[in-house]
Amino acid sequence: MARPRRRTRVHIDPRLCKGTEGCGICISLCRPQVLAPAAELSPRGVHTATVAAAEACTGCDLCMLYCPELAVAVEHLEEADNG
Ligand code: SF4
Ligand code: SF4
Repeated sequence: MARPRRRTRVHIDPRLCKGTEGCGICISLCRPQVLAPAAELSPRGVHTATVAAAEACTGCDLCMLYCPELAVAVEHLEEADNG
């Protein structure tokens, strides 16, 4: 029987993120460096956090748990692993 393995999808709401200039907590906590400042300014005039290397996410949830603006959601998906 196929064994499920962990897969995640990270969402950052640019309307809620207060910007990596004054925060960046999620980036600091993410050891695999999945997150990075966005190149473009958000409608709030800041560089929000963005997902730069989605495939490296381990699903630790730290970014979601510690974001003071509740801007991050980590979606946990299961995918069959036939390998
Ligand atoms: S922790 Fe939240 S508010 Fe701070 S930079 Fe990351 S997404 Fe934005
Ligand atoms: S869940 Fe963990 S590994 Fe994935 S983006 Fe957030 S802090 Fe990084």
